[in-house]
Amino acid sequence: MTTEPTRTLADGEPLPFATRDVVVVGGGQAALAVGYHLARELRKTDATVALLDRQPGPGGAWRGGWDSLRLFSPAEWSSLPGYLLPRHLAGREAAEYPHRDDVLDYLAAYEERYELPVWRPVRVTGVRRVDGDPAGPLWVETDRGAVAARAVVAATGTAGQPFVPEVPGRGAFGGVQVHSSAYRLPDPFTGCRVLVVGGGNSGAQVLAEVSAVADASWVVEREPRLLPADVNGRVLFDAATARYHALQNGEDAGRPYGLGDIVQVPPVRAAREAGRLDDLRSPIARFTADGVVWTDGSEEAIDAVVWCTGFRPALGFLDGLGVVGSDGRVAVGGTRSVAEPRLWLVGYGSWTGFASATLVGVGRSARATARKVAAALAETPAPISS
Ligand code: FAD
Repeated sequence: MTTEPTRTLADGEPLPFATRDVVVVGGGQAALAVGYHLARELRKTDATVALLDRQPGPGGAWRGGWDSLRLFSPAEWSSLPGYLLPRHLAGREAAEYPHRDDVLDYLAAYEERYELPVWRPVRVTGVRRVDGDPAGPLWVETDRGAVAARAVVAATGTAGQPFVPEVPGRGAFGGVQVHSSAYRLPDPFTGCRVLVVGGGNSGAQVLAEVSAVADASWVVEREPRLLPADVNGRVLFDAATARYHALQNGEDAGRPYGLGDIVQVPPVRAAREAGRLDDLRSPIARFTADGVVWTDGSEEAIDAVVWCTGFRPALGFLDGLGVVGSDGRVAVGGTRSVAEPRLWLVGYGSWTGFASATLVGVGRSARATARKVAAALAETPAPISS
């Protein structure tokens, strides 16, 4: 495989190539893991690979994390293939649960270490078949020109599609609404009445700091599952792995812990001990102009809502292929599109591989994908000129 380190394009500068054997769309952790394994699988070939990322710098979705964001996975369970997240990076010591900035530094170091061919900022706007030719390349359209590719790996994550549930009257609410993807700091909520919606790790971490400066309640569908304070986040991955193997063997997997359970990182633990996570509310029935109506019919004035309600796959650029279903997903066998065999998808969640939306989990899907892509390239040995 031909290698070329990360390239940052100047304003208006086009991509300096029009063909690549493999185009990986994205430049976050999933794309980097795929790039790492493609380099290994294709090392004895002259295949060309490009990772196209619309961000101006490394880090993918972690670039948009709030200022105090802590991983729920401990450092030793937060690494991509080949290179463990170091305890010391950029002059700092990573905490037991790394900070957002530790991951940003790590991902920057990762792509540099393996000289991954990431091109930025390049936004992929569409992927199309060339004249309907099922054996020819796919046409990857970008804001820097088009690239013909024999294989396309989608690794665009979910951060581009924040999800907010449809609650009647939401549009008429005059207060502040912010999704966790746009939340940065608790300061703007000081002294306000705030609802934090969503019972996962994001909701817990945001509530922990907002409740220190505001009158905040936690809006959840069911009681949040907090791991015991002395249980390390590693057990989520151990339990999830055990469950995965049990299911593979057709055994009853049980559910001791799940990847959605809440890890008591230090700020969450402190908030719990201070009783600031205790004000649980059932889902909002509807919004009014200045507040909410609860399911028991009572009304309450509020100032702001922070939606910690997750994400959906960011796959709009695949619309031209007609492969995205009404659920926003693509039908896959492993990580390969069933309807378009030149397309693979990595990192979107369990439907593209067990734990593939986590740092430590994406390596497995990335390796399997790189192997299949390499095999597919070898089966159709009509290289396109680069
Ligand atoms: P992303 O990081 O989103 O990368 C996708 C890249 O593709 C981005 O750079 C994006 O700009 C780019 N892109 C998108 N569309 C296009 C396009 N059309 N053209 C070009 N580029 C495009 N995981 C853990 O393992 N441990 C944790 O503790 C943990 N904590 C989390 C906490 C929060 C609050 C969140 C939201 C997630 C957490 N995760 C954690 C989950 C997971 O690791 C991240 O969601 C991860 O960022 C997903 O990586 P990705 O590479 O699939 O997607």
